[in-house]
Amino acid sequence: MPTPRPRGRNFFFAPGPTNIPDRILGAMHRATIDFFDPAFLDVQKAATEGVKRVLKTKQHVLFYAANGHGAWEAGLVNCFKPGDLVLVLESGHFSNNWSEMARDIGLEVETLQADWRHGVAMDALEKRLTADKAKAIKGILVVHNETATGLAHPIGEIRKSLDKAKHPALLLADTISSLGSFDFRMDDWGVDVVVGGSQKGLMMVTGLSLTGISAKAMAISATNPNPRKSYWDWAAMQKTNPQRFPGTTPTNLFYGLAEAIKVIDEEGLENVFIRHHRLASATRAAIAHWGNGARNNDLKISLGAMTGKVGAIELLCADATRASDTVSAVLVPDGHDANALRVHALNRYNLQLGGGLGPLAGRVFRIGHLGDLNEPMLLGALATTELAMADCGVPHTPGGVQAAIASLRKR
Ligand code: PLP
Repeated sequence: MPTPRPRGRNFFFAPGPTNIPDRILGAMHRATIDFFDPAFLDVQKAATEGVKRVLKTKQHVLFYAANGHGAWEAGLVNCFKPGDLVLVLESGHFSNNWSEMARDIGLEVETLQADWRHGVAMDALEKRLTADKAKAIKGILVVHNETATGLAHPIGEIRKSLDKAKHPALLLADTISSLGSFDFRMDDWGVDVVVGGSQKGLMMVTGLSLTGISAKAMAISATNPNPRKSYWDWAAMQKTNPQRFPGTTPTNLFYGLAEAIKVIDEEGLENVFIRHHRLASATRAAIAHWGNGARNNDLKISLGAMTGKVGAIELLCADATRASDTVSAVLVPDGHDANALRVHALNRYNLQLGGGLGPLAGRVFRIGHLGDLNEPMLLGALATTELAMADCGVPHTPGGVQAAIASLRKR
């Protein structure tokens, strides 16, 4: 018999999937109708237009009955063919996994290496693009918000680097953990392919991923002979409005998504961003307090290795201008197991925190602060994290919640 969970609601603070508002769950509780029924097509159109507003695009948006990995693959196989070179901007576990997928489907992959605490420097990117006189690089792959490390790359700056170097490579951005939570501007920032998923900022169940597609990327796909795009082929899907799925349209997912768009519209997208920034700032204030302001500049994390010592609790992201508004990765001092802390938080208090991925396993825990979230929920999670740290003997300065409250009162 598994140990029963403690009473009370499961406090879900992993950085995705996220808490789903009851009204979105309820909206999906619908009897089946034909997916060509005009009543349904109106819902599909409304959801699609809503996602365009969230991406800030007037170009194409296509959906897949798949999780984010499906949208990753759709972007790659439509834009590139085996042998094409793509440059991946290293940020952590998810940039590495996207690279591996690109390699699996026959692309040449070059990684612009970067320390996971800082991400890629814009001058390093510019230098690499300028050196590519033959314009061999066909695409830049960047994770907007690296969910494993809590670091956000500046997509607008990346576009400027491409323009400065007069480089024609396509710009592909993964927004799976930033979409609908903090600022993203597909058209203003000249992003060619945006990869998104339903289960984080959109507050939906997993299983409906999407790509925003620029006219340039759509044109490249139209003449791309890559046979692997068969199921994912944009040409067939974009012929109708709303799009045709290859096979049956997942109608109930669109009912949920249309409701999620209503929830976002009622709050106002810019207010959603402000709320996420306020809650993220409070989380960072608690973390800084727990570690007594520790700042370890010797610690380096890149491609599978972590070097240096962690002496105190610290936010993994070491560049304050890039700290994520949706997830904070928290380093725990050497000799303490972040996973043991997470297991205790769940089994004793019903608080679900995220774990460390790749070389960060056992070295960090992650607090997801995105989606359907407010101050009392966050303060409860921070208080319980502190309680679990005390139980597990993880060294910290007590009073992180007070620091979070002070941060919330400032804004
Ligand atoms: N990219 C990022 C940044 C993610 O956070 C995730 C999942 O958490 C993925 C890609 C993969 O998405 P999925 O798990 O829906 O396939």
